[in-house]
Amino acid sequence: MTIDHSSLFLGGRWVKPLGSSRIDVRSASTEEVIGSVPDATDADVDAAVAVARRAFDDPSGWSHWEPARRAEALERLAEEFEKRADVIIDLISQQNGMPISIARQLEAPFPGAILRFYAELIRKQPVEERRDGIFIESTTVRRSPIGVVAAIVPWNVPQTLLMTKLAPALAAGCSIVIKPSPETVLDVFELAEAIAAAQIPEGVVSIVPGGRELGAYLVSHPGIDKVAFTGSTAGGTAVATACAKLLRPVSLELGGKSAAVILDDADLDLSRMGEAFFAATMANNGQVCFLGTRVLAPRSRYDEVVDAVAALVSSVKIGDATDDDTLVGPMASPTQQQRVSRYIDIGIKEGARVVAGGAGMPTDIDRGWFVRPTVFADVDNNATVAREEVFGPVLSIIAYDSDADAIAIANDSDYGLGGTVWSTDEDRATSVAAAMQTGTVGINGYIPDPGAPFGGIKRSGIGREFGAEGLAAYQQLKSIYRMQ
Ligand code: NAD
Repeated sequence: MTIDHSSLFLGGRWVKPLGSSRIDVRSASTEEVIGSVPDATDADVDAAVAVARRAFDDPSGWSHWEPARRAEALERLAEEFEKRADVIIDLISQQNGMPISIARQLEAPFPGAILRFYAELIRKQPVEERRDGIFIESTTVRRSPIGVVAAIVPWNVPQTLLMTKLAPALAAGCSIVIKPSPETVLDVFELAEAIAAAQIPEGVVSIVPGGRELGAYLVSHPGIDKVAFTGSTAGGTAVATACAKLLRPVSLELGGKSAAVILDDADLDLSRMGEAFFAATMANNGQVCFLGTRVLAPRSRYDEVVDAVAALVSSVKIGDATDDDTLVGPMASPTQQQRVSRYIDIGIKEGARVVAGGAGMPTDIDRGWFVRPTVFADVDNNATVAREEVFGPVLSIIAYDSDADAIAIANDSDYGLGGTVWSTDEDRATSVAAAMQTGTVGINGYIPDPGAPFGGIKRSGIGREFGAEGLAAYQQLKSIYRMQ
């Protein structure tokens, strides 16, 4: 089906935008314009929030449906998404440069799995539970949806990160207004078609494409009851400030600077651990929040680690993101390309040793927003590239002397989102993982699972997505006290 790119998806219907400006979307690999959609205005946001509010307040509407009926709708949406998954991942790959092989592993399976997980959860979760009283007979604790949600989504893993908000919000019975990033809007129009085909009732889901000003307008809108934000720590701070003034609940999934701790008994054979290590440190061109971009290497095996990581990164195929064999594609935008290039320059200027990649474009590529996947050795944990989030394919290898020293360096960061421990001793790895100040950590690999809470501490965020905790963020609790 051909999508109408002249309209906006507001409350489940395609309607003409109230403004005339448009967002042109370019291919990150070729820089060519590949599509355009309306740039929503504040008036479009007003309309979206108004229909969401009407749907939410309808006493026989979505928010009052039996959970099992909503669960069926989520499952229909999973099916409709999956029918369109090939088109969606191709659009993502063109827009943000995500290698298509990675999009197949990430953006194709995760959204459906997340929808089915929350369908199952809401089916099983009782709306009410009774608790024995201490001063009274008992209390009935009742769950209800939190209201109209504003979801702000970044461009790096656009469908999965959108679904971490949409699925639990829908499961809980909320209405939602989604603002995708301007870099990745074409895939979201396909999702809108899936939402319509899944017969999610009128008013419940709206999509308003636009930039940060539109996001700021949506976040502070008087008709919004809760904000869910994924993006940079700077953006999240602005959103949190706006929500604090309104005493509006907000969940924040922000940046990271995670550690990949290689213990001295780790298996460094790339044929066995190379793929998992690459996925945990450089997947999606380094544009993933949880990647372990500070590689902590034991001094006793430092040269071996440097050689292995440099060999791994030097061997990856760089190219057009839509090619099957590409492992590193372009950055998502010229701004991202400039940002990452600047960090590579800073790393060199501050004295880090370049053992793979370096400044400039890859030699055989003359268009697209590419950088060279780069590995720095001999990095001090106080260096700029070790402290700040680069959000590109740049790794810094830092030496440590003991497990305690590795833990101290891993924890010496403003962030606390991801992390990995690499070891042949499961118990030792688990005890290092337990000591790391972070919201999530993987042993000999890293794959977030929809069943378990995901989120950060320190400047990496507030709150959790995924798991039952991710649903609780969209629910309100009411205690009804019973005297006898
Ligand atoms: P960004 O903060 O620039 O933008 C993210 C989204 O927020 C976009 O839709 C943008 O338009 C909107 N936005 C920005 N400022 C806003 C404001 N003041 N008010 C309302 N909306 C605003 O981030 P980005 O460059 O798109 O994404 C990359 C960042 O996202 C990285 O820092 C990365 O670590 C982080 N991220 C975090 C997670 C996580 O789960 N913790 C996941 C993915 C990405």
